[in-house]
Amino acid sequence: MYNKPFSKRTSSAGSNGGGYGDRGRSSGGSRFGGGASRGGGSRFGGNRFGGNRRGGGPKGQRIDVSKFINKAVITEEVDVFVPEHSFMDFTFEESLKKNIAIKGYINPSPIQDRAIPHVLRGEDVVGIANTGTGKTAAFLLPLINKAILNPDEQVLIMAPTRELALQIEQELKSFTQGLKQYSVCCVGGAYIGKQISELRYFNNFVIGTPGRLKDLIERRNIKLATFKTVVLDEADRMLDMGFINDMRYIMSLMQKDRQTLFFSATLSPEIEKLIHEFLKNPVRISVKTRDTAKNIDQDIVRVKGATKLDVLHDLLVQPEFNKVLIFGRTKHGVEKLTGMLVERGFKAASIHGDKVHSQRQRALKLFKDEDVQVLIATDVAARGLDIPNVSHVINYEVPQTYEDYVHRIGRTGRGDKMGKALTFVE
Ligand code: AMP
Repeated sequence: MYNKPFSKRTSSAGSNGGGYGDRGRSSGGSRFGGGASRGGGSRFGGNRFGGNRRGGGPKGQRIDVSKFINKAVITEEVDVFVPEHSFMDFTFEESLKKNIAIKGYINPSPIQDRAIPHVLRGEDVVGIANTGTGKTAAFLLPLINKAILNPDEQVLIMAPTRELALQIEQELKSFTQGLKQYSVCCVGGAYIGKQISELRYFNNFVIGTPGRLKDLIERRNIKLATFKTVVLDEADRMLDMGFINDMRYIMSLMQKDRQTLFFSATLSPEIEKLIHEFLKNPVRISVKTRDTAKNIDQDIVRVKGATKLDVLHDLLVQPEFNKVLIFGRTKHGVEKLTGMLVERGFKAASIHGDKVHSQRQRALKLFKDEDVQVLIATDVAARGLDIPNVSHVINYEVPQTYEDYVHRIGRTGRGDKMGKALTFVE
């Protein structure tokens, strides 16, 4: 039964598009990642500061400050990625091709170029890719195609954070305008009653965070027996955030005969174990070739305790610091810094785990719409966020692990844009 009116479900338009291949690329390729390879996934340059740090208190790894310095490379002559396909070459239905064109996507990013043909063939895929590499469309587009060909198709998408889940749904809606594809986003912190009533209707795509999905499965609002496809996005983050039991529970209820897509930025032994548990003969695609994006200019700012806020103030008054994402370590620290900046006359908002979902969404919108200049966040709250045109990421407090650092600075220099990352070092 497809009795939910389509218009009601397509109220939000798509996220930003463009960028990958539609700009003058003198060197003949996009600036994306560079050098995709099949087979073995490369890690963050072998520099994984592993360990389960959650709940481990403020103690982090000692990170050599030289790792926070890297001059951005403006033209990439060597690591040029030349896609094997254009979007029009993929065996997508015409209606989907039309929406891809409307969205302004011309050339696939490396993960899209390599993964889409396998997903279209129904194979299991492990994608090792950072955020900002276009992995959302890499799984969404072939799965939308699958659901166009078979309107009964149901896909479950698990993501670590509410924000990421909502972003995935937004991207999905931008590609499915007029295609009669139905979706629901089931995230914690949002009103469950609305999700339950949306789940009474048929949904091709159920997107959510593991905790809330499990809750809805236990209440029998989601019946996994009819789902034949599952996507685990940012699986390493879900593991880090303590969702492992929920993930295992959900996966145990999925049909054995299914297609599983698994995305992760890192390949730790724990992740390998999950791949082995959840996937059947997966194709492995890795587009991670270096620790941090080349188009992010990274530097440190040496400060001593009391002057830290003044140094930040002096940076924020410079005109080029027009959309600044600042990271603090604790919810309390983030709140305090936000208050101090507002007191000094800066337009600032904050996101962290103590804020309810609607407050986080509001803060994000203010920042996205450039109604505030500064967004101050904790690591978990900012994970996976896709905010266009962030001019600077400032690590007001040093991240606990190098991996967190890579995630933080990945919020700037998205797509083929240049970005700047500054880390305060005492
Ligand atoms: P993601 O890594 O999926 O979060 O994507 C990062 C950003 O790149 C998002 O704003 C996407 O809309 C955009 N994007 C992804 N793939 C393409 C593409 N092939 N062409 C242009 N923009 C893209």
